[in-house]
Amino acid sequence: MAEKSNVEWGPCCFCGKNIQAEMPDPLRITAETSAGKWQVWFAHAECFKKRLADPPEAPGFFNPAHF
Ligand SMILES: [Zn+2]
Repeated sequence: MAEKSNVEWGPCCFCGKNIQAEMPDPLRITAETSAGKWQVWFAHAECFKKRLADPPEAPGFFNPAHF
């Protein structure tokens, strides 16, 4: 069982569905904007991993995903 946290979870930035802290795979992604500011986005790990594609110069880079 994951440690209880006080994180306020927003909707997944991929599928738009709400994330519950009790779900097995909530992610917080730190994103840097083009203006150099930081934002925190939320996602389901499954939604994120589905979109990972190996870079052409590094086949296997995300296989297996390290999380
Ligand atoms: Zn999702």
